[in-house]
Amino acid sequence: MKRFYISAKTDEISKGLNNKLKDALFNNDWIEDEKSPEIVFTIGGDGTFLHAVHKYLNQLSKINFVGIHTGTLGFYTDYEAEEIDQLIQDVLFKQPKIEAIRMLKIETKNGKLKKGLYALNEARIENIIKTQTIHVYINDEYLEMFRGNGLCVSAQAGSTAYNRSINGAVMSMGIEGLQITEISGIHHRASRSLGSPLIVSSNSNIVFKNDTFSNAVLCYDYKHTSLDEMTEITIKLSNKKVKIARFRPTSYIRRLQSLF
Ligand code: NAP
Repeated sequence: MKRFYISAKTDEISKGLNNKLKDALFNNDWIEDEKSPEIVFTIGGDGTFLHAVHKYLNQLSKINFVGIHTGTLGFYTDYEAEEIDQLIQDVLFKQPKIEAIRMLKIETKNGKLKKGLYALNEARIENIIKTQTIHVYINDEYLEMFRGNGLCVSAQAGSTAYNRSINGAVMSMGIEGLQITEISGIHHRASRSLGSPLIVSSNSNIVFKNDTFSNAVLCYDYKHTSLDEMTEITIKLSNKKVKIARFRPTSYIRRLQSLF
């Protein structure tokens, strides 16, 4: 007997899968418990998975996630829609391997006032209203003055998401590190920054500073918050982990191939 919750998209395919999975679990004496589940199933895509992670942010150590993708294979999801029977068999009768993914911790600061936030895919500072200056420090060492639309920080799991769209490197499974990728950096004689994505070690402390981040937004996964009053943003890997129950190995190359 296990406590479960299903977080599903509202389209017809997802609804059908939701009903089938729920019936099978009820028939095996599982209990639906939205407040305190042991297993959370997501039906939709990697985006649906992210929503479920943020919903249970304060209970992550007690939850294993299992994802079904209704499109192609995802990075957080292991089963496609037509594999629902296989998923039910695996969940009822197999022991999974647990993959734990560390989330990013983002701290925004204005003087002594601090706010802590978490992201699985990435944290990015973006200003589409005016050129944003960002002084970049890594482990207290000054790297550069960046000017442009913003900077994105991701780890391995988020490297295939927004990071990939701005020409960041895809980091294969097993590679640890934090990647900083420029968003529309300005590069000319008077303004220079690294220009290429930079991958630093996973225990690095990345700090972005400026006198003002007025009009800039901090986007973290599908969420966002204004940086209007902030002067400093720190990003590092946290000890908060998202646990994915993997019932069968799926090659990373296969996942990548299904992306494009
Ligand atoms: P969303 O609609 O939930 O997701 C946008 C796209 O990003 C979807 O196709 C989603 O895949 C895919 N995605 C999410 N996480 C991924 C990962 N780890 N690897 C590969 N693809 C991934 O959009 P949202 O609610 O605005 O934001 C959620 C996430 O989407 C963000 O964290 C960001 O990384 C990503 N995003 C990407 C872009 C871009 O590439 N230009 C723009 C906006 C947002 P599914 O179809 O499987 O859900």
